[in-house]
Amino acid sequence: MPIKNTFSIHTLGCKLNFSESSDIARQLTASGFTQNDSPAYIIINSCAVTATAEKKGRNLCAKLHREHPDAQIIIIGCYAALRANDIAQWPGVVATFGNEDKMNVVRFIRGEELPDAPTFFSSHSTHDRTRSFLKIQDGCDYHCSYCTVWKARGVSRSDSIAHVLDEIHEIMDEGAKEINITGVNIGDFGRKNGSSFTELVNAIEHENFPVRFRISSIEPNLLTDEIIQIVADSSCFMPHFHIPLQSGCNKILEKMLRRYRRELFAEKVRKIKEKIPEACIALDVIAGFPGETGEDFNDTYQFINSLPISYLHVFTYSKRPGTPAAEMKEQVSPPEKKRRTLALIDLSQKKKQAFYQQHLGETRPTLWEAESKEGLMFGFTDNYLKVKRLYDPSLVNTITPFTITDENIVID
Ligand code: SF4
Repeated sequence: MPIKNTFSIHTLGCKLNFSESSDIARQLTASGFTQNDSPAYIIINSCAVTATAEKKGRNLCAKLHREHPDAQIIIIGCYAALRANDIAQWPGVVATFGNEDKMNVVRFIRGEELPDAPTFFSSHSTHDRTRSFLKIQDGCDYHCSYCTVWKARGVSRSDSIAHVLDEIHEIMDEGAKEINITGVNIGDFGRKNGSSFTELVNAIEHENFPVRFRISSIEPNLLTDEIIQIVADSSCFMPHFHIPLQSGCNKILEKMLRRYRRELFAEKVRKIKEKIPEACIALDVIAGFPGETGEDFNDTYQFINSLPISYLHVFTYSKRPGTPAAEMKEQVSPPEKKRRTLALIDLSQKKKQAFYQQHLGETRPTLWEAESKEGLMFGFTDNYLKVKRLYDPSLVNTITPFTITDENIVID
């Protein structure tokens, strides 16, 4: 039998989901609930970014229901936003909340009346006591032709600058040394309240916070020269960018309804490297988008190969029902998608090796994490090189200068 006033929370998908789950757990704990292995309530914060992510959500729900037949299961997040009616039929599920009203799960469990959903709710999570993910923006008004995220998370909306600064103080009080600024489309921050992401970055920079900041994935057309300059001059913003490219072929970018062409992307990368030569630059790319010919793929491969980037996040295109891309003719065959994915993963490894090699012998500020494995501990330099050293508990959550050698780099 489940124990009264207990819950468990399970998270799939992106950093945003993890930071929201963390906030939900914090709020429930503050209301007298405890996390337990025989929970009365099970929350699944779901993801719908790919068909595989949806399947994981279905399987997880079935497994948890088998293990805890008396628990009340509540599905929240993207999958719940897209398929609330289907999910409501799953055994054990008593409620669903999409993204706009996801925080109402706390009121639901507390047995309170459900108010109208707030337009934006902030949240943050802490990984390993050292790094925190702070959500500053949600939703997206771009309608890329392959994406369901904008449908699942609703329209673009964001926090205020003043509240973001308050949240940063709260995270610092909790002890984290690094804050990762996240959102669905963070570059769109503030557009509807008369401010901008550039203003937010400026405001954070002016506060001289004694912690490190990283800017998570930002659309290339929204990465302004001013932001690059602030990061270049800053001692708190780390030299690390994550920019989704998705394709290096303009014909495919057009079909994807992306709002830039590859020339703009190359220009942003050039500017970053000119101002911050040591910067780590990661990009996202999709292999096998409908209509991508062998020649288009080669274009993408050669384009990425020509850029001084540090590594890639490679996604294999998968049809998302209800998206224009799913209806496009000329879908690429699964074996060909796989071949292209593997070629890009291989390119990513080469880029990563080259990036790490460039920094051998340098001494860089490194934040050490709590995890220990086989007597070793791991850390990240300012420019996101992963390194290892012998475990020393006194170094956990501290930033120390560390010299990078062939023996202590970690290339996952
Ligand atoms: S920018 Fe495009 S890919 Fe990213 S969330 Fe918005 S619609 Fe989706």
